[in-house]
Amino acid sequence: METIIKGIPVSQGIAIGTAYVLGSVESKLPPSYLPDDDLIPNEIERFQQAVLAAQRDIEDLKARVQIDAIHDIGLIFEAHILILSDPSLHAEVLRRIQRNRMTAEYAVQCTIGEYVRGLKGKPFLNPKINDIQDIERRLLKALIGQHYEELHSLSHEVVVIAHDITPSQTAGMSRERILGFATDVGGTTGHTAIVARAREIPAVVGLGSISDSVKPGTEIIIDGNRGIVIVQPQESTKKNYEKVRSDYREFGAELRSEAGQPAVTLDGCRVQVLGNIEFPNETESVIRNYADGIGLYRTEFLYLDNDGVPDEEIHYDAYFQVVRAMAGRPVTIRTLDLGSDKQFHLSDKERGSTERNPGMGCRAVRYCLENPDIFRSQLRAICRVSAHGDVRLMIPMVSSREETRRVVGMIKGIQERLADEGIAFDPDMKIGIMVEIPSVALTVEQFAGMVDFFSIGTNDLIQYLLAVDRTNEQVAHLFRPDHPAVLRILHYVIENAKRTGVPISMCGEMAGDPMFVLFLLGLGLRNFSVSPPQVPEVKKIIRHASLGVARKTAEDALLLSSSRDVRNYLRGALNSLYKFFPS
Ligand code: PEP
Ligand code: MG
Repeated sequence: METIIKGIPVSQGIAIGTAYVLGSVESKLPPSYLPDDDLIPNEIERFQQAVLAAQRDIEDLKARVQIDAIHDIGLIFEAHILILSDPSLHAEVLRRIQRNRMTAEYAVQCTIGEYVRGLKGKPFLNPKINDIQDIERRLLKALIGQHYEELHSLSHEVVVIAHDITPSQTAGMSRERILGFATDVGGTTGHTAIVARAREIPAVVGLGSISDSVKPGTEIIIDGNRGIVIVQPQESTKKNYEKVRSDYREFGAELRSEAGQPAVTLDGCRVQVLGNIEFPNETESVIRNYADGIGLYRTEFLYLDNDGVPDEEIHYDAYFQVVRAMAGRPVTIRTLDLGSDKQFHLSDKERGSTERNPGMGCRAVRYCLENPDIFRSQLRAICRVSAHGDVRLMIPMVSSREETRRVVGMIKGIQERLADEGIAFDPDMKIGIMVEIPSVALTVEQFAGMVDFFSIGTNDLIQYLLAVDRTNEQVAHLFRPDHPAVLRILHYVIENAKRTGVPISMCGEMAGDPMFVLFLLGLGLRNFSVSPPQVPEVKKIIRHASLGVARKTAEDALLLSSSRDVRNYLRGALNSLYKFFPS
């Protein structure tokens, strides 16, 4: 019987195939102890050999993925290798072997289990659990040959169904054989989701208990556009989806062929469409998709991939690579947005605390102002790299004028110092703030004399406006960009920012959602920054729009009083321009 299960869409596209059900990541070993102390040295040796074997496994996989030209994923493996060589992990496992006479495998399971339980209390580190369990499974594979399904060696096409999939399994997936995947757990910010998007593998996560209910070989459809999985589809459903899949592929090919054309409306208004990146190597995708520049360069990755706090040179190298590759096109570097859902390597002490509600705690600019030495290294690196291109500096999570004044003051101080030291920088580097906290959105004009640009971060703005944790699967259905209150606040921000003459852009996910492009254009937005694969479609919508139609669409949408009405109206408006996906 056909069953439809709703989950969270994390990677677009349609997959139709038979299920390959992976074993659970969470299967546990029973307690096991050594019969006497003489066996302890041998057990320690087994553990050390297992670490080496796991490192070799990861190195092999990393080499294969890099050959595959997905360099960014290689960075995740570097993080895994770092965790494997973490002295505190080794010390804990050895302690359990020596003091409690545990077998190496049981000591590994207990140590990692304890670590994971600690992370579960810290929502902003939840995505990391995935990575750590990945390492546990590799160690257990080396120690006791526990089955670890590497997904690159499958011999036929399948759709993978699992409780969870580790990031390295996703990275190792054979693109020819794995048509898509669906998992019980997960969210949009985990590494597995990031990797699925980078590899363009259709995926839906957060499906509850799909891995228990689906039998191997069952026919499955994964709709990564709408976030649904259809188990045992009827013949008619399958036929519909085959059509959707082929239309979707055709649409993708058409988009790619026109991607080089600029985003100019039918009545001649030129709109900028830029790309958002998290890793320097994504610049390749920005250029390939013909973005007009980089509107958001998130820099948290420096904390994910380095052990401890990165120094000024590490920052500088990462920025210089991007600025050089963009060859004069704008690059907006955002200062650290640590905390909340952002993953990083700092210890609790370096991070400042274990916060109960980190989304509203000491994150981003608040953290940076509390830790001026850490912040200063980054600001100096950004100022120095500004000598090499059109670099702009953006401050996240600003909630007041006072914070803005303090950061701008620090930047000016650093620039004076660089001048004294005879180090090159651009004295006219533009400084902007993200508008992502309602208090700033509603007073945006008061920041006009202080900064050179604004950029709306809808991911956080929606979270704080609607009181919906963006990382919580349980309330994911309440995170609604189409909420009338969201439309109103965007109207307010864009209109008031425009009155001041300070340029305004949008770099939150909403800017890249085809449904909202016409509405945002109608509100007066002329600068969109979106995930690089979305650039061609946003440009296409703009090329099919006129400002008159866009303004009318925005005016009408602002009068609606429910998310459903907004969605239906905006879908209709977009469909009248051209046929788009998801349908
Ligand atoms: C946002 O909040 O919309 C944004 C772009 O920043 P991030 O997703 O990194 O918080
Ligand atoms: Mg944000």
